[in-house]
Amino acid sequence: METHKVIIVGPSAVGKTSLLNRFVHDEFVLRYKMTIGVDFLTKIIEYQPSKSVKLHIWDIGGQERFKFLHRSFYDGAAGALILFDLSRQHTFSSMKTWLSEMRNIMDKEIPKVIIGNKIDLIPEIGRIIEKSEVENYAKSENCFYMETSAKTGENVEKAFLELTQCMLGNGKTKI
Ligand code: GDP
Ligand code: MG
Repeated sequence: METHKVIIVGPSAVGKTSLLNRFVHDEFVLRYKMTIGVDFLTKIIEYQPSKSVKLHIWDIGGQERFKFLHRSFYDGAAGALILFDLSRQHTFSSMKTWLSEMRNIMDKEIPKVIIGNKIDLIPEIGRIIEKSEVENYAKSENCFYMETSAKTGENVEKAFLELTQCMLGNGKTKI
């Protein structure tokens, strides 16, 4: 089966590991270890009726602070999910830094989906980052934008599906 490498990037504690575990194992735990013992998890995704690909999904794990050392993390990636945390304002600007650094490191444009994670917290704390601001930014960067919750599972499959469809040339945003 065709296999594609997908990377999940973004600042610490935005829910990268949680999103991956929700997608691959359909589970959520309140406290994840900073570093996980594996480089990637694998999942087969059906991106069109009876058309499937295997995704190798790489989680940057505890390497967030040393990202400049890990060019190999980006090598061969066909798509990226770039996360920030809807409940913490500053993660939106750190996410932008991540995206521009990623562009500097990678020698080609790959499909990217920006993810505002922890949408389940919004009823409680309200919106602290204007949705239109994020949408405008995503548009200017030629990225798709989605809001997810690794906790409830909302939009998690959709986000991976959207990215996979972009990677295979059938998405709403073509790059
Ligand atoms: P990472 O450092 O980006 O990999 O973030 P983690 O996956 O380790 O998550 C950081 C913290 O946020 C953990 O306590 C998670 O339980 C919590 N978390 C992750 N995703 C969500 C979410 O969608 N909603 C809520 N409420 N908490 C989340
Ligand atoms: Mg993690």
